[in-house]
Amino acid sequence: SSQAKIIDGNAIAKEIRTSLSKSIEELHAQAPTFHPPHLVILQLGSSPASTTYIRMKLKAAEESGMTVQHIKVESDDESGEPKGTGVKKVLELVRHANADEKVSGILVQLPLEGAGKAEEKSVVDSVSVSKDVDGFHPENIGLLTSRISEPYFTPCTPAGVIKLIESTGFDLAGSSAVVLGRSDIVGTPVCALLRKKDATVTQCHSRTKNLEDIVRSADVVIAAIGQAEFVRGEWLKPGAIVIDVGTNYIPDASKKSGQRLVGDVHYESASKVASYITPVPGGVGPMTVAMLMHNTFEAAKRTWSTRRERKLVPL
Ligand code: NAP
Repeated sequence: SSQAKIIDGNAIAKEIRTSLSKSIEELHAQAPTFHPPHLVILQLGSSPASTTYIRMKLKAAEESGMTVQHIKVESDDESGEPKGTGVKKVLELVRHANADEKVSGILVQLPLEGAGKAEEKSVVDSVSVSKDVDGFHPENIGLLTSRISEPYFTPCTPAGVIKLIESTGFDLAGSSAVVLGRSDIVGTPVCALLRKKDATVTQCHSRTKNLEDIVRSADVVIAAIGQAEFVRGEWLKPGAIVIDVGTNYIPDASKKSGQRLVGDVHYESASKVASYITPVPGGVGPMTVAMLMHNTFEAAKRTWSTRRERKLVPL
């Protein structure tokens, strides 16, 4: 059997950052009233995972020629303030950033430490639709699933998944795509995007029966379930394209940290059957961050042209 080609998310993400940085520079040179996009990242608490993700976003923003401000709010546990204080502070910061015309995009790093799901939703909902670079606002979600409209912003991980598929030259139209997972941030928006690309989409979840048979029918498999090395090569149709969104840590005594990052797909067996496959790490992860930068540039361009139409700025 042959070996699948690797879809290099690191390289594609780097191209996107470089091209964004060039576009921003060119636009600013042509039109001095256009300022580099400015992203605000809000964090509640200091979980190591969130801190790592934010560090990657700060670095990518810089490489993409954007400015970024990271505002960290102490969780109620850290500050000793009454429960709910941290969330209130984050809400206040969102309101401030919504009103600040220098802010192009707002990202609330989830999860919010110490907050319940309802509080988290109230914060996500409070971000202005036109600055919602994560694409998580309910209006953006609604627009994404609509047949006749486009959202202000497409969620970053799902947008990255589509870019990775398209990088192979594969035509999604009429193809059979199977998505594992139905979360609001990955599985479901990925399905919406694949449908917009005219794929025939099957969405699976933890209650799906005959998962292996369904996967075997797919030209494209997208795994977003958070189960280490769950999808096996034996399940795949020969030549399938495999996009692995999962990020799972499993014990590995040979590593200094004692653990290793793996995807939702068993890479070794899958890469013997698939035509293309994304590695973990180095596949979807960097693309998520690159698409956030893409969205932030879109936000800045949109604000700028609106201001020009209203003659608030010259040119
Ligand atoms: P999530 O909210 O936990 O959702 C997991 C989904 O998978 C659920 O819909 C669940 O079904 C389904 N599922 C779980 N076990 C399953 C099984 N054995 N068979 C079939 N379906 C199963 O996860 P998420 O936020 O979508 O994230 C999924 C994975 O992607 C995680 O590993 C996460 O770390 C990773 N991720 C990576 C990036 C990136 O940038 N690389 C971004 C986001 C997420 P039910 O609905 O029935 O419970």
